[in-house]
Amino acid sequence: MSVSKRDYDAVVIGSGPNGLAAAITMQQAGISVLLIEAKSVIGGGMRSAELTLPHFVHDVCSAIHPLAVGSPFFKTLPLEQHGLEFIYPTIAAAHPFDDGRAAALYRSLEQTAQALNEDEQSYLKLMKPLVKDWPRIVADVLGPLHFPKHPIDMARFGLKALTSAAYLAKRFRSKEAKGLWAGMAAHSIQPLSNATTSATGLVLMIAGHLGGWPIPKGGSNAIANALASYFVSLGGTIETNFYVRSLNQLPSSHAILFDVTPWQLLQIAGYKFSSVYTWQLKRYRYGMGVFKIDWALDGPIPFTATACREAGTVHLGNTLEEIAASEQLTSEGKHPEKPFVLLAQQSLFDASRAPEGKHTAWAYCHVPNGSEVNMTEQIEKQVERFAPGFRDRIAGRHIMNTAEMEVYNPNYVGGDITGGIMDLGQLFTRPALRLSPYKTSAKGIYICSSSTPPGGGVHGMCGYHAAKKALRDVFHKKATVIY
Ligand SMILES: Cc1cc2nc3c(=O)[nH]c(=O)nc-3n(C[C@H](O)[C@H](O)[C@H](O)COP(=O)(O)OP(=O)(O)OC[C@H]3O[C@@H](n4cnc5c(N)ncnc54)[C@H](O)[C@@H]3O)c2cc1C
Repeated sequence: MSVSKRDYDAVVIGSGPNGLAAAITMQQAGISVLLIEAKSVIGGGMRSAELTLPHFVHDVCSAIHPLAVGSPFFKTLPLEQHGLEFIYPTIAAAHPFDDGRAAALYRSLEQTAQALNEDEQSYLKLMKPLVKDWPRIVADVLGPLHFPKHPIDMARFGLKALTSAAYLAKRFRSKEAKGLWAGMAAHSIQPLSNATTSATGLVLMIAGHLGGWPIPKGGSNAIANALASYFVSLGGTIETNFYVRSLNQLPSSHAILFDVTPWQLLQIAGYKFSSVYTWQLKRYRYGMGVFKIDWALDGPIPFTATACREAGTVHLGNTLEEIAASEQLTSEGKHPEKPFVLLAQQSLFDASRAPEGKHTAWAYCHVPNGSEVNMTEQIEKQVERFAPGFRDRIAGRHIMNTAEMEVYNPNYVGGDITGGIMDLGQLFTRPALRLSPYKTSAKGIYICSSSTPPGGGVHGMCGYHAAKKALRDVFHKKATVIY
């Protein structure tokens, strides 16, 4: 399919949170933008669909949104006026153990700490200053590497964030605090002994205390729809069902921003790049993949621990030691018998997701990049372990291995959902070591996906920063939204 021959100031390829954020940032500055999407529906990692049975609405990719609600850019947008409503589960995240008890991340810092018994003070000592500093440093943390506005506050966060989760866990004595921490840090999709795995854990916990871990009413596509509606209200144009394979397919424009990962960018625009930049992109590393299941259920998941029955997210991995072993094995190319499972139960808090009395659940575990092993049995065993009787409630099931993930969205290379591993070597210099990570070596071509800082998740900050750079370089304009 081809677009009309009208010229645009800028073209954005890919309508994930970052593509949409880039398109909005440019359109807000008075630049005419065409946003192109390969699929028939916009949204990238923010889509919802009836994957199992009729009237059961599942989130195909992202489900839980501490990063969207805490995004400094999204906060400036009138998304509520465009139909977005966040629902806040009673408990952000719960973490059950084999003894039937559970630790939990509550909105309240004090309540979370109190439930950790002997680690109450250790938790407060770690988290209280970080939660207090966060509003001053969030824009610096969720952006490219640069001299921060509040260097002392930033150093307080950075020195802890740069450590491995295994190292930081030594502050705690109880299995509850260690387990809760390991579940948070395992969102980094890396062995917990890797430097910087604490960054992910800390960001998620701070976000939980400040803004909660909400779900969008109706499904994650509600975020995409609100962003798209706002973009169109500004005068932006969206074209779907248009898979870009070559720059020749595009209408003329002054700038092109790609919401894709480096290897795709090389295929589409590689001939425009310098040999050094091409060499850098070819060396870009993708991380572990995911195996995902969605269930239609005849009733809520019968978790033994009360906190799990009241939580939007449940981390299934028991102790720090078990989670660390599972992530380590996966990084070595193996498939653990007891994988760390991230589970969400949206319909407990959003009745629009399932018929009355019925429920949905969403879960995934990490697997080696490119794995085609079916992890259904291992994942369901982990749920059954903490919720005996769970299997009897399964009415429908939909699975996706890493290959199916990549077919669904080419940005999930080998099933990697964060646009490339976010380890020390790639956290700040994704996708390449350059003065601006968003600028390619070709004039007017930018990359704005989660393969740029600050990385994976639904927050739009990669797109915002890439657009800001393109606005300055190409159009000599400033982004309207500045914080
Ligand atoms: C199973 C799963 C669970 C997740 N859970 C969460 C969660 O709970 N919370 C959270 O914050 N994040 C979560 N994420 C991660 C989050 O979805 C991603 O980090 C985020 O969507 C990345 O945004 P993006 O804009 O960089 O790219 P994407 O969202 O991947 O969007 C890229 C878009 O570009 C399009 N595209 C690609 N190539 C082309 C092309 N050549 N031509 C035209 N269009 C193209 C794609 O179709 C896609 O729509 C999850 C992801 C997955 C897969």
